[in-house]
Amino acid sequence: MTAMELFDDLEAGELSVEFEGQEPQDVLAWALGHFGDTLAISTAFQEGDVALIDMAYAIDPSIRVFSIDTGRLPQETFELIEQLRERYTGLRLELLAPNAGQLQRLVDRHGPNLFTRSVEQRLLCCNVRKVQPLTRYLAGVDAWITGLRRDQWASRTDIRKVELDHDHGAIVKLNPLAEWTEDEVWDYIRENDVPVHPLYAKGYTSIGCAPCTRAVAVGEPKRAGRWWWESNAPKECGMHCSIETGGFEHELHAILGDEAHD
Ligand code: SF4
Repeated sequence: MTAMELFDDLEAGELSVEFEGQEPQDVLAWALGHFGDTLAISTAFQEGDVALIDMAYAIDPSIRVFSIDTGRLPQETFELIEQLRERYTGLRLELLAPNAGQLQRLVDRHGPNLFTRSVEQRLLCCNVRKVQPLTRYLAGVDAWITGLRRDQWASRTDIRKVELDHDHGAIVKLNPLAEWTEDEVWDYIRENDVPVHPLYAKGYTSIGCAPCTRAVAVGEPKRAGRWWWESNAPKECGMHCSIETGGFEHELHAILGDEAHD
């Protein structure tokens, strides 16, 4: 049975209201019971992501977890992955790679560091390295879990705990931490001794690809270190919301080629 047959927007909204005020573990336990192996946690190894892995693994160690190895991640991310694999025995962590043909065409046409030239080129890189692998993966599940919170960024203030993801075939998207604050997440991490990304200790507050992420100064917004050279551009990569691409669809189409949906 597909997610579409299970829920419509109204039912997802009602469930979301029901879960309001409940703990993240309540959402996770319900989701695991409901979707089983057609459910997966998406992680970019931020603080909320590792807290969710810890919570979900305690409920069901066979929970599927996936992340996207963009090819430009910092070494510290791989160190954390090894730590998680040690801590959570048998953790089903899948690392997704960009499509080789698409990546080859991207780099051939625009070079490896295209993201520094314009917002459009940065979004092109994020699309090939992140959005396309995510889209391919989500075509095979009924529901996914994210660590998104309302307190993270202006574009996230309205997220609900249960949504239908119309950008990905109307599967169910669950945001169990929507209501939590950053402090609550870190309290959970400390209380449960959850491994965290080593770059937090170096002043990073949001972590992505190595060339596109830097530490932030005290008082700067949490996501200020992402694509810090851009002004008036969304601090998003297109994984969690459609982004107006500024008219480079033709170029994107040329790069994706026949492999757009493989
Ligand atoms: S964060 Fe930077 S390197 Fe990573 S996919 Fe986006 S533009 Fe490319």
